[in-house]
Amino acid sequence: MKARIAILPGDGIGPEVIAEGVRCLRALQLRGGHDFTLIECPFGGAAIDLTGEPLPKTTLTTCQSADAVLLGAIGGPKWSAPELKVRPEQGLLALRRALGVYANLRPVQVHRALSGASTLKSEVVTGVDLLFVRELTGGIYFGEKRREAHQASDLCVYTVEEIERIVRAAARLAEQRRGRLVSIDKANVLETSRLWREVVTRVMRAEFPQVALEHMLVDAAAMHLVRRPRDFDVLVTENMFGDILTDEASMLAGSLGLLPSASLGAGRRGLYEPIHGSAPDIAGRGIANPYGTVLSVALLLRHSLGLAAEATALEQAVAAAIDAGARTADIAADGSAVTTREAGEAVLTRLSL
Ligand code: NAD
Repeated sequence: MKARIAILPGDGIGPEVIAEGVRCLRALQLRGGHDFTLIECPFGGAAIDLTGEPLPKTTLTTCQSADAVLLGAIGGPKWSAPELKVRPEQGLLALRRALGVYANLRPVQVHRALSGASTLKSEVVTGVDLLFVRELTGGIYFGEKRREAHQASDLCVYTVEEIERIVRAAARLAEQRRGRLVSIDKANVLETSRLWREVVTRVMRAEFPQVALEHMLVDAAAMHLVRRPRDFDVLVTENMFGDILTDEASMLAGSLGLLPSASLGAGRRGLYEPIHGSAPDIAGRGIANPYGTVLSVALLLRHSLGLAAEATALEQAVAAAIDAGARTADIAADGSAVTTREAGEAVLTRLSL
C-alpha cells in the first residue's frame, strides 16, 4: 500500500507522543511491505514561531494532498495571552475547514486492567466500548453571532443535508459494530433538534433498517453516560452537544492520554489526533502517555488507508502493553510508571503481524 501521511507534531507534548506514533507507522510499513511517505510539517504555536502563522501555506497544501494527517496537539501559555491576535487554535479550525471534515469520531473503550483508574466505580465502567460521532462543522458554533449593549445571541442552524451525511456516517459505523445507534437531541425544545430527529428517523428507516435506533434527549444522555455507559454502542449528535458529551465520556476511561480521535469528511482523507491538549504542565519531561496517539494511528490505518488488520494489531499491542504494566504516570500505580518512549517500545515489542 502506498500512502502519503502528513505529520503535524505541534506543541508541548505533541512532538513527544507523535514520535511514538511515527515509530509504530514505520514498524508497520516495514512488516507489511508498505510504502508510506511521512511528511513532517510545522503547525500551531511552533509554526507561529517559525512563520508568524499557525497554518503555513506549505503545511496546508501538504495536508490537502496527503491521504491522512496525524496531529499531536497545539497550544500553550506562550501563545495564549489575551492580547495576541494570532493563535494556534485558529490553525486547527482552518485545517478542519480546509479538509472538509465534518464527522468527529471518538471511541471510548475501558481497558479491563484500568477500570480502577476512572473516577467512576469500576463495576460501572468495566466493559465500556462506545463510539461518539459528533457533527463538527454546523450548529451554534458557526451560526450568526450578534452583540448589542444589553443582549447577545448565537444562531443555531442545521440543514437537512448536514444531518443526513452525519447520520449516514454514524449508521455505517454502527453496522460494523453492535448495530445500535442512539441519536441525541433536544427535540422537546429546539427546532433544529426537531428537524434532526425527523431526518435521522427517515434516513435510518429507509437506508439502515437493520440498525436499532433510539432517540435520547441530551440531558438524559448526560445522565445515562455515567449511570449505564456499557449499554451504548454508537452515539450521534450535533456539534455543541457532542463537544460537551465527548468530554464527559472521555472520563470513563480514566485518562485523557488514552483516547484517540478521527475527523472524517466525504472521501477517505482524515485528520487523526489524540483528544488531549499540549499538556504544558508535563511537556519536555518524556512522561506523557502516547497511547492516545498510537490508537489514533490505528484509526488512520483503518479509516484512511483501509488497513484493518494493521489497525487491529496495533490496538491489540496497546492493550497487551497495558496488561504487561507498561503504564505512564497518568495511569500507573505509584512508583511503577514508564516513560513515553518505554510505553512506545512496549507496544512495538508486542506488535504481531
Ligand atoms: P490538556 O489536555 O493539555 O491537559 C489536561 C491535563 O491532562 C493536564 O494535567 C495534562 O498533564 C494531562 N494530560 C493531557 N494529555 C496527557 C497525556 N498524553 N499523558 C499524560 N497526561 C496528559 O488540556 P489543557 O491543560 O486544558 O490545555 C493545554 C493546552 O492545550 C491549551 O493551550 C489548550 O488550548 C490546548 N488544547 C489543544 C487541543 C488540541 O490540540 N486539539 C485540545 C485541547 C487543549
